Amino acid sequence: MRLGVMGGTFDPIHHGHLVAASEAAHLLELDEVVFVPTGQPYRKDVSTVTPAEHRYLMTVVATASNPRFTVSRVDVDRDGPTYTRDTLRDLRDQRPDDEMFFITGADALAQILSWEGVEELWELAHFVGVTRPGHLLSDDGLPQDKVSLLEVPAMAISSTDCRQRTASGEPVWYLVPDGVVQYIGKYHLYREDPS
Ligand code: ATP
Ligand code: MG
Repeated sequence: MRLGVMGGTFDPIHHGHLVAASEAAHLLELDEVVFVPTGQPYRKDVSTVTPAEHRYLMTVVATASNPRFTVSRVDVDRDGPTYTRDTLRDLRDQRPDDEMFFITGADALAQILSWEGVEELWELAHFVGVTRPGHLLSDDGLPQDKVSLLEVPAMAISSTDCRQRTASGEPVWYLVPDGVVQYIGKYHLYREDPS
């Protein structure tokens, strides 16, 4: 099986993530894309990142209608900060026969070269860099056989913007899936005063 892996904080998941995954699945003929929400950072970020269970459930809600999209708990269930190496190792252990394609936006791809153990990452998966408005998709120094660069429809959406909009009472309708709008409202996420 050709398996796409879409890692992210997903705080909240938005249509930029979904379009990137869908387009990568189409262009690379992936059989499935598994979304992997990151675990809870245990240092200073802990107060600013929404609890992992909420981010996991919003990801489930957002992907439920697509038969090729699934969600994995490997990072949510592992203690400590999330490293892509651990994500890919855990998925490989669960599905040793799958060929993995790690899908990442241009901003995150720029950091690949600074990741530790980059050689092991190349062993575990192909890397797919997708375009993202406001970020350059540069292929300087990336191994051509391991990294594919894909142009996807431009969705100028970020989770940061969705959180800020919610905090100031602006709508996030159509930036995130309908069920995610309702989930955010139901649990009063991203409010200054969560009561
Ligand atoms: P935040 O603003 O909190 O950093 P984000 O919108 O960047 O959130 P992440 O969860 O950090 O979302 O991103 C997960 C992955 O999705 C990253 O690889 C990121 O580059 C990619 N991504 C996020 N938004 C888009 C978008 N609009 N278009 C393409 N890729 C995106
Ligand atoms: Mg980000």
